[in-house]
Amino acid sequence: MDCIFCKIASKAIPATLIYDDDQIVAFHDNAPQAPTHILLVPHQHIATINELGKENSDLISHMILTATQLAKDLSLADDGYRLVWNCNRQGGQAVYHIHLHLLGGRNMHWPPG
Ligand code: C5P
Repeated sequence: MDCIFCKIASKAIPATLIYDDDQIVAFHDNAPQAPTHILLVPHQHIATINELGKENSDLISHMILTATQLAKDLSLADDGYRLVWNCNRQGGQAVYHIHLHLLGGRNMHWPPG
């Protein structure tokens, strides 16, 4: 499958992973939208969050808890940060392999653009 995040997660192409386990990897976004912009990506190829079901509950929980732990480790937790899932075209999804954005280090705007 020609999926860039499958290749990064399987280490078929090199990336600097800041977190890596049997379910997910995390790495810095290559076009950061904030001083800290990390992507959490599962090894399993799931195209969009629309495809998630109850069978993925542990994975999604693990992604969120890893993101919050990374935010704490990077001293983002007290000032705050944002977790984002983009879904499909109007949601701004560009890579069709689910990923959780962790953004921090600046004031976030609301509503988002
Ligand atoms: O949620 P969305 O699909 O728009 O986000 C994809 C993200 O993946 C973008 O922020 C983009 O900069 C990032 N990306 C990356 N490395 C790649 C391809 C995309 O960090 N090789």
